[in-house]
Amino acid sequence: MQVNTLVDKIKNNLMRDYGKEAKDASIHEMHNVVAQVVISQITDRWNEANKNFYKNRHAYYLSAEFLMGRAVQNNLICIGIFDEVKDALNEIGFDINQFEEIEDMALGNGGLGRLAACFLDSAATCDIPLNGYGIRYKFGLFKQAIEDGFQKEYADNWTAFGDEWSLRRFEDSVKVKFDDMEVVAVPYDMPIIGYGTENIGTLRLWQSEAVNEFNFELFNNCEYDEAIKEKTEAENISAGLYPNDNTEAGKVLRYRQQYFFTSASIQDLLKKYKAEYGNDFSKLVELNSIQLNDTHPVVAIPEFIRIMTTENNVSFDEAFIMAKEVFNYTNHTVMAEALEKWNIELVEKYTPEVFAVIEEINKRLIKELKKLKVKKKDIAKYEIISDGQVHMARMATYIGKYVNGVAEIHSEILKKDTLKEWYDIYPDKFQNKTNGITQRRWLACCNPELTELLTRLVGDDSFLKDLDKLKNIERYADDDSVIKEYIEIKKKKKRQLIEYIEKHEGIRLEEHFIFDIQIKRLHEYKRQFMNALSILDIYYRLKVGEIKDFTPTAFIFGAKAAPGYARAKAIIKLINEISNLVNNDPETNDRLKVVFVQNYNVSYAEKLIPGANVSEQISTAGTEASGTGNMKFMLNGAVTLGTYDGANIEIVREAGEENNYIFGAREEEILAIKESYDPKEIYENDEHIKKVIDSLVDGTFDDGMEDEEGTIEGSFFELYNSLLEGTSWHKPDHYFILQDFNRYFEARMKLNKDFKDEMSFARKCFINTANAGFFSSDRTIREYAKDIWKI
Ligand SMILES: *Cc1c(COP(=O)(O)O)cnc(C)c1O
Repeated sequence: MQVNTLVDKIKNNLMRDYGKEAKDASIHEMHNVVAQVVISQITDRWNEANKNFYKNRHAYYLSAEFLMGRAVQNNLICIGIFDEVKDALNEIGFDINQFEEIEDMALGNGGLGRLAACFLDSAATCDIPLNGYGIRYKFGLFKQAIEDGFQKEYADNWTAFGDEWSLRRFEDSVKVKFDDMEVVAVPYDMPIIGYGTENIGTLRLWQSEAVNEFNFELFNNCEYDEAIKEKTEAENISAGLYPNDNTEAGKVLRYRQQYFFTSASIQDLLKKYKAEYGNDFSKLVELNSIQLNDTHPVVAIPEFIRIMTTENNVSFDEAFIMAKEVFNYTNHTVMAEALEKWNIELVEKYTPEVFAVIEEINKRLIKELKKLKVKKKDIAKYEIISDGQVHMARMATYIGKYVNGVAEIHSEILKKDTLKEWYDIYPDKFQNKTNGITQRRWLACCNPELTELLTRLVGDDSFLKDLDKLKNIERYADDDSVIKEYIEIKKKKKRQLIEYIEKHEGIRLEEHFIFDIQIKRLHEYKRQFMNALSILDIYYRLKVGEIKDFTPTAFIFGAKAAPGYARAKAIIKLINEISNLVNNDPETNDRLKVVFVQNYNVSYAEKLIPGANVSEQISTAGTEASGTGNMKFMLNGAVTLGTYDGANIEIVREAGEENNYIFGAREEEILAIKESYDPKEIYENDEHIKKVIDSLVDGTFDDGMEDEEGTIEGSFFELYNSLLEGTSWHKPDHYFILQDFNRYFEARMKLNKDFKDEMSFARKCFINTANAGFFSSDRTIREYAKDIWKI
């Protein structure tokens, strides 16, 4: 589109919608009209793509979370009109960078939700017919502020200024029935714009509304209070995202959310099918595949069978066989506390017909197990309904045609441990699909400077559609002039990050520091605690002159803790205490800085990752399913300082262990020492470790919770105990921090020394970028399409 035409359209819409001249428009108003102009430009393409979607075999991605981030920049780049829009806005006196104030769409917690977003982007780009179904939460993941070192949570009212990227499709509404209430699920569609293709996918998010709101007569006849109550209860279902990452939420409302969006989605996809084929279901399996992103949407399985049998005259046998062909299940964790179970009473109370279907599925399972000669005493391990609970992962594994893990090590652990009994009887179900990230957002959008250099080196920008092309640049690793340019880009991104952090956190960093970054949800298994303690160790050793010739390092953290996760919140407070101590010590603050950035989200990640030198990926071996943050850093030229866990293993396989810093116990070592592990012995025999751990309770830090007599029984004391004493629910140092502590320190010191040779360090980074091709979610989604969906 011509810049002039764009200018006219933007001006017209501003006047039409807000009665304003361009110079008077707010950032949000400007953003809204730009979104309108883009949407109107792609409407025909989108409608066409929608029609084509149903003609051939297609797949649906059911996910309780989509962590989309900000849409505007990505969409402009994918359509290929970023520069035109930028120029048009310039002409009317508006800097496109002001859109950085637009809210993220944060309808997810972390990696699982971001993966769903990357998958939709990749499927659209690769012309794979995949649409997403989820929940349109009124409030996304809470906004985090750090006040006095503590996390505080604020509501994320992300649609306060409108939601111009979505279209309300009221005519496609469906009703969802619980035993005690009925609601209307109203879909909002968001275009997923492929890059370098005409194709546009759809993310359909359901919003819960009251039935009577659309029935004026009834609404009028109701008691007013009754009507309001019904409206509130209905809207409550999609009111907010549960802020738990990798733990089970187990609340009635959460179950309602899951049933709400899966029921609406199944009704919707059947409606689309029936519009074409009526009640002839012979092509249903041939045309449809459904991917369940973790266990949150697993209730879709019995709901599908219920709808087929009670509303479509299909026998249970037939519906059951269809379900076994249509559904597939992706597991995201090996941790027991995240495997979802629901109380029988709850499922039966709110969705009795669904419960009856689950009971029938369970019966068939037991019959099949007997046929497979599974021993009687082993059958309990498989049962979907047992100990008063419905086991969602078991139902998904039994019915799912394919079951996959998200990195090689994770898929192996599923087979030998988490889902071992299932692998024993159904080995052919099991697959691996190593996660990926989209290079449109995680390179083109967040690092245009590096994209420009890579474009010159590759010869064109084809790597934005085929990331394996980056392999061709590896031959420049020994070309000093290329490496120098690469270094300059990293420095530029660090300078931009310094400005951003100063503006948002009030702390100024310096460019010559190593930027060592750990950003991810706060969780014990991810071991931000180990990082914090290790920084304290380095600080003490610097103070006494034990570490000499230390390359100045800024340790940067970003993380949200689930609001009910006390220990995670204590770790945030601790990091901020360490930050205060270290940053204000004139003896060391020319070499050591610690920053905890507030409200880590997709947009903040897009600032932090291009400016990183070091990517911290330090989970206890065998606990991180894959990680995707690690891939974003690799692509943008940071070395991985990490354990042999999740996709780190595949990252160093691609880019070379010599170009990264892998340390610590491997999964086998952890398994071997598990029973006899004694962290207290390590503590008592290592003066450095002892000093660091003692400072949790010797008055070095204030956790803000000491009582008046000064006896310490607050949250840092609890952290101390978690390492040395354990509690009723876990052993001391459950995540083997002390086991890995010294090897972590040594890896850090080696890295710190290596960094002094600027060229050779940059060469390692460059080789990481060049070998990131495998981690494009384009590769991942093509594997799903080929091996699971058979598209
Ligand atoms: C990529 C991403 C994650 C996942 O990070 P991991 O390090 O893999 O846990 C979480 N949150 C946001 C905002 C992300 O962009």
